[in-house]
Amino acid sequence: MSQSPQSLQDTQYGGQGVQWKTWKHLSRFARAYPRKLRLVALFAFAVGLADISFPLVTKYLIDAIERWQAEGGATPSLWPYGFAYAACTLVLCCSVFSFIRVVGFLKVSVAADIRQAGFHNLQQLEFAYYDQRATGWLMSRMTSDCERLATIMAWGTLDVLWASSFLIGITTVLLVLHWKLGLLVLTVMPLLVWASRAFQKRQLKASRKIRKINSAITADFNESIQGVATTKAFARQAAQAQEFGGRVEELQQASVRNAVLSALYLPTVVTIGSLATALVLLQGGLFVSSSGMSLGTLVAFLAYTRLLFEPLRELAMIFGDLQMAQASAERIVELLTTEPQIVDSPEVQARLAQQAANPQPGRADDGWPQGLGAIEFEHVHFGYAPTSSSSGAGSKVLEDIHVRIEPGQTVALVGSTGGGKTTLISLLCRFYEPTSGRITVGGIDVQDRSLAWLHSNFGIVLQDPFLFGGTVMENIRYGRLDATDEEVREAARWVGVHDFVTRLEGGYDFEVGEGGTKLSQGERQLVSFARALLKNPAVLIMDEATANVDTETERHIQAALERVLEGRTSFVIAHRLSTIERADLILVIESGRIVERGSHAELIALGGRYAGLHQHQGLATVGRSEDDWSHGV
Ligand code: ADP
Ligand code: MG
Repeated sequence: MSQSPQSLQDTQYGGQGVQWKTWKHLSRFARAYPRKLRLVALFAFAVGLADISFPLVTKYLIDAIERWQAEGGATPSLWPYGFAYAACTLVLCCSVFSFIRVVGFLKVSVAADIRQAGFHNLQQLEFAYYDQRATGWLMSRMTSDCERLATIMAWGTLDVLWASSFLIGITTVLLVLHWKLGLLVLTVMPLLVWASRAFQKRQLKASRKIRKINSAITADFNESIQGVATTKAFARQAAQAQEFGGRVEELQQASVRNAVLSALYLPTVVTIGSLATALVLLQGGLFVSSSGMSLGTLVAFLAYTRLLFEPLRELAMIFGDLQMAQASAERIVELLTTEPQIVDSPEVQARLAQQAANPQPGRADDGWPQGLGAIEFEHVHFGYAPTSSSSGAGSKVLEDIHVRIEPGQTVALVGSTGGGKTTLISLLCRFYEPTSGRITVGGIDVQDRSLAWLHSNFGIVLQDPFLFGGTVMENIRYGRLDATDEEVREAARWVGVHDFVTRLEGGYDFEVGEGGTKLSQGERQLVSFARALLKNPAVLIMDEATANVDTETERHIQAALERVLEGRTSFVIAHRLSTIERADLILVIESGRIVERGSHAELIALGGRYAGLHQHQGLATVGRSEDDWSHGV
């Protein structure tokens, strides 16, 4: 449970410093909003300026009073100081209000842009990428990581600009007001920088631990929610809860440590600040009495000394944030820059461009003939890439698959679970690439055809089909987006889904829920069957598509299938359909090899594996779908 790929990925990234390259890559998302960035800079600068001005106004006021006391004369007017103070306050308020708006906007836009870019890239990536990464892992990349990075980029930009303008401003003012005292105050700076960094480093370590535990907890949640039925069925709740409790305790300890560290930070910094204040009081008092420094200047120095650590703390915090988010940043950059491995080759792209520029009639978009022709597997070998959680090389899944399927033929794939039937289909659809050997369609290597052509010619119905949140109508229409409502209903009637749909509340407008969870698995299969048919593909692939429908429904599908399969190349993986017996070619696949091939009659006559399976299943399904087997031949 804990050795999910994501936890390994996280340790892989743990503990390094800030890599500017990563952030430079990500900063392009913020740089896409130059106007907003300029505004952020303007407001950051304005706030810094206002912050610095307050002590100055006080200084000049005190100086004026001091002069008046010393020289006598008319009472100085206090209005200008009042106005200056009010003006600074106004600038401060307006800037704060404005930057909250601008930075908020920037953050939301940047998060949306990163998410979109990530989503776009995920759509291009092949199945092998998904095999390596848990859904929960990808989900948190797209949600919390994006959010985090956008927040850091938007607020970080503001904070860095504010802190640097503040720091530069204070330093300048101090040196201009009284360079000797100014230099003295600045000597505590290194101490403050050191303290801020030291604390921030320790806090970072604690936070990193918290995050790690947190993500383990999230993964646990994910798994236990998805596996709740299994957990209950195996009465594993107690063990699961104990494991979970351990993590929660760990999280608590780490959080307390983090809180103690932050509680310690402020007193330490204040102590160092007091040191500076003491220096200013001592030395400044001397300057006032001996070399005629004004009282106002002394007061200003005291105020600035107290403010000095704020920009430093801010910068240390941002640096810490960057360091903490380094892992997130790298994961996002990785996700954004992972190149899909299965893409149209340059030659295919060239042909696509040529055909687009100069379309030849009767040709597909990729310049090859539109028609399909025979499908051939030529000595195909395949193994899944080893995942990060399993060690060693990927094991062989398919070995030396060599078979030719004529156009219009129905091929049935049978054999034990795990034999490699689904894998064979996945290779044909080019969801994965063979390790060696090749697959041709109409004599052309599938790698030489465009993916778009390939996928537009295949219609697939899976054992556990995925439905998108939305209505039944929308889900069926997903097969062909320009289909009219009537065409959708037509397709549904064809596969006998219509009756079941009309029984649903709202009929075709029934909301299937996220992932189609409001429908039974069998119902989902029916919907996805209609969806595949609406597409009217040249090759229909059914991977245990009727495994979860009842016999009655299966009979409907059976009838529809007979019409559907006619004149269409099709691959059917099924356990008990008469389609198998009627298939032009039956391939028996065991442990990645085709162990028998031929028609039903031939294989029965052979008296081998198929005959055994047939007899066994025929017996096993007596009374349920007995007649499925006694159909045909
Ligand atoms: P079938 O469809 O005949 O039941 P599959 O083609 O699904 O068999 O699986 C063949 C073998 O490949 C099995 O041993 C299975 O564990 C393995 N396998 C299937 N999918 C993957 C995957 N995505 N990553 C790694 N191994 C896989
Ligand atoms: Mg399978």
